[in-house]
Amino acid sequence: MSDIEIPESHPRYQSLLTRHRIEEGVEKGITSRQGLIAQGRGEAFDYLLGERTIPSADEAARAAAAHLLLADRPVISVNGNVAALCPGEIVDLAAAVDADIEVNLFNRTDERMRAIADHLRDHGADEVKGLTADGRIPGIDHERAKVDADGIGSADVVVVPLEDGDRAEALGAMDKVEIVVDLNPMSRSARVATVPIVDNIMRAVPNIAAHARDLRDAGATREELEAIVAEFDAAEALEAAERAIRSGSDE
Ligand code: ATP
Ligand code: MG
Repeated sequence: MSDIEIPESHPRYQSLLTRHRIEEGVEKGITSRQGLIAQGRGEAFDYLLGERTIPSADEAARAAAAHLLLADRPVISVNGNVAALCPGEIVDLAAAVDADIEVNLFNRTDERMRAIADHLRDHGADEVKGLTADGRIPGIDHERAKVDADGIGSADVVVVPLEDGDRAEALGAMDKVEIVVDLNPMSRSARVATVPIVDNIMRAVPNIAAHARDLRDAGATREELEAIVAEFDAAEALEAAERAIRSGSDE
C-alpha cells in the first residue's frame, strides 16, 4: 500500500494514485479546479500510449538531460498539477542538474503561489522562485506574464511540464531552450517545444534525472552532450508519439 488504500497490484493503480494526488492537491489549495480537467485530458492520452514511456519519449528525456547539463541557468517551472503529482521528483531533478525551481501559474493567486512553494519545501526544496515576479514574458497579458527576473526571466533552458500553449509559444519566442512534458503530441505546447517529451510527468521527470546522472557518471563531455542535443529531432518525436497513439505500436 502506498498513500492510498489500493494494492499496488491493482491494474489501475498508477492511474488511481494520480487521481488521488490531484484530488488532494485541490483540497490543499495547490491545484486549481481547472487542473482536474487537464488531468482528465492527459489520462486519455496516457491510456492510448499504454501508460508507458515510449522509445521516442525516452530519447527526448535524454536530449532534455543533455540540454540541462549544458545550461548556464536552467529553471524548472512548476504549476499546481506538477506540484501535486511529483514534488519530490521535481526537487530531485533540480538537484541532479543544478537547476532552480520556479512556481509559475496560469491562474495566479498569491495564496496558491505560497501553498505550492511551501509544499515544494516540504519535499526538500531549499529555494523556490516565482514569488518576486519582477520579470515579464513579452507578448502575453500581464497576470500570465509574471516571472522572476533572476529565474525564468533570465533562464537559458526551461523545463515546462503541462504549460499552456500561449505561454509556451511566448517563452519559445524569448530564445530559450524549452523542454515541454505533455501527453498530447498535438498540443500547441508540445509543438513549440525545442524538446517535447510526450510522456506522463510522473514518469518523465524521474527519467530525465536518471539520464542526467547516467551521462554525468559516464563522464560525457560538452561535445558529447552537444551531439545528443543536435541529433534530437522534435518533429520526428512528435510524429512517433502520434503514431503510437493512433496505431498502438512503436513501428
Ligand atoms: P493547447 O496546448 O493545444 O493550447 P491546452 O494547453 O489548452 O491545449 P489543457 O487541457 O489546458 O490544453 O492542457 C493540459 C495538457 O496537459 C494536455 O495536453 C494534457 O495532455 C497534458 N497533461 C495533463 N496531465 C498530464 C500528465 N500527468 N503528464 C503529462 N501531460 C499531462
Ligand atoms: Mg497545452
